[in-house]
Amino acid sequence: DLAQRMNERVADVVKYMMRQGEMMRANDIIDADTAELIAEEFGHTVKRVSESDVEIGLEGDEDDPKDMKPRAPIVTVMGHVDHGKTSLLDALRSTDVVAGEAGGITQHIGAYQVQLESGDKITFLDTPGHAAFSAMRARGANVTDIVILVVAADDGVMPQTIEAIKHAKAAEVPIIVAVNKCDKPDADPDKVLTELLQHDIQVEAMGGEVQAVKVSATARTGLDELTEAISLQAELLELKANPDRPADGIVVESQLDKGRGPVATVLINRGTLQRGEIVVAGKQWGKVRALINERGQQLKDAGPAVPVEILGLDGAPEPGDMFNVVDSEARAREITDYRNRMERQKTGVASARASLESLMNSMKDDKEVSELPLVVKADVQGSVEAIKQSVEGISTDEVRANVIYGAAGGISESDILLAKSSNAPVFAFNVRANKQARELAEKEGVEIRYYSVIYNLIDDVKDTLSGMLAPEK
Ligand code: GDP
Repeated sequence: DLAQRMNERVADVVKYMMRQGEMMRANDIIDADTAELIAEEFGHTVKRVSESDVEIGLEGDEDDPKDMKPRAPIVTVMGHVDHGKTSLLDALRSTDVVAGEAGGITQHIGAYQVQLESGDKITFLDTPGHAAFSAMRARGANVTDIVILVVAADDGVMPQTIEAIKHAKAAEVPIIVAVNKCDKPDADPDKVLTELLQHDIQVEAMGGEVQAVKVSATARTGLDELTEAISLQAELLELKANPDRPADGIVVESQLDKGRGPVATVLINRGTLQRGEIVVAGKQWGKVRALINERGQQLKDAGPAVPVEILGLDGAPEPGDMFNVVDSEARAREITDYRNRMERQKTGVASARASLESLMNSMKDDKEVSELPLVVKADVQGSVEAIKQSVEGISTDEVRANVIYGAAGGISESDILLAKSSNAPVFAFNVRANKQARELAEKEGVEIRYYSVIYNLIDDVKDTLSGMLAPEK
C-alpha cells in the first residue's frame, strides 16, 4: 500500500527495510512512525491525517472530565476451590431489590447487576476463578474494580487463595475479604484473618485498611454487610464513565447458540450501546440485532458497567476481546480484516523470518546459485510445512527453490503483491484466489498455479528448476 501510494516498487521498499535490519515482507503491517520514516527516506512529504488508516481512534480518545458520570463497580469473586465462590455469587443475586417488579435474575450470561436497597448498583462478573480473570488481563482487559476474596472459615488460606491475592495485587485491584462458611461449627474466622497477614493482607480488625466481612453463602448471612463494603470501596474509587458517546467495552463470555447464532456477553466500559448499532468485537463484527439482560429482557440500550448479551455478530469473539461501536459496515469489515491479517502475520512471521534469512544467507554464501522464489498458500498449516520441506529438499546445489512465504488460507491481494515484489509464482494447494487477487495477479503478471495433489506440485517445481538450468546447458 505504502509503496503504491509513493509510486515506488514494493521490492525497493522491502529492500530498504531489510537494509535497516528489518526482515519484512510486502504484506506486513507497519506502524505509522515506520511508514513516516520510509516515506521521508523515499523523498516524500508526510502529512498525518489520522494515527492509522485502520485502527482509528479505537483507543486513546480521552473523555472530558465534565462528561463523566458515576457508574457501578465491577466485582470479581476469587478464592480457593470449594470455598464458596459459586454459592456466594448465587446468594448475592438475592440482594437485588428490582427482582419483584422487573423479574429476577434468571439467566446466566457471565455477569449480572444488582440494585441494592440504598439504590446503589453492583455488577458481578459471574465467572468465578482466576482463569477468567487472568485470561482477560492477558488480553489487556482490566475489567475488575474490586476483588472479593472468598476464604472458607473452616479451611483457611489455601494455595489458590494466595494465587488470587497475587492476581489482585498485580492488577492493583483492591480486595475485600469475605470469610465464608461462618455458619459451620468448626469455623474460625479470626484464624483466617491472622493467616492473611502473612500474605500482606491487613484487615481493618488488625489495624489495616482491607475490609473483611463474615458471611455464609448458604445461610445467606452477612450479605448486606458485604454489599455495603463493596459500595464503600466503590465510593473511595470514584468510578466514573462518560455515558454519552459511542460505546466500547469488553467481551465477558461468548458462545454459538443453535437458535440465536453467535451470542456475546459484553460489559460496557463507557458510552451507551444502542440496538441497531454496528459493533466490532475482537475479530468479529455485526449489527446489534438485540440486547438482552440477565433477566431475559430486551433492552434498547445499555450504559457503562451494564452487562448485556448482544445478538447479531458474525462469529463468537473471545472473552477479554475489546468491542467498539463503529460508524459503518465498511469500517467494521476493514477493522476485522486488519485484525485477521495481523493474526496471520503473527503466526506466519517465524517461518517467514527463517526463509528470508536463508534467502539472504544463500545469496551471501554463494552468488552463483540460482534461486526460484515461491509463495505457497495451502488449506492448512500442515500442508504448508509439508510442501516447504519437500520443495526445499529437492533443490540442487546449482538451483534451489525457496519458499519466501508460506501460509494457510486463500490467496489474497497481499500475497500477489508479495509474489510480485520477489518475482515469485504463487503455488496454491487446495485453495483459491479471491476475485481481487485474481485480477491483481493478471494485472501484475503474477502466475498462480493450483494443485490438489502434492506430488504434482513438487513435480512442477522440479520441472521449473530444470527449466532454470536449461539455458545454461
Ligand atoms: P467454589 O468451588 O468456590 O465455587 O465453591 P462452591 O460454591 O461450589 O461451594 C463448595 C461447597 O461448599 C458446596 O458444597 C457448597 O454448598 C458449600 N458451601 C458454600 N458456601 C457455604 C457456606 O457458607 N456454608 C456452608 N456450610 N457450606 C457452604
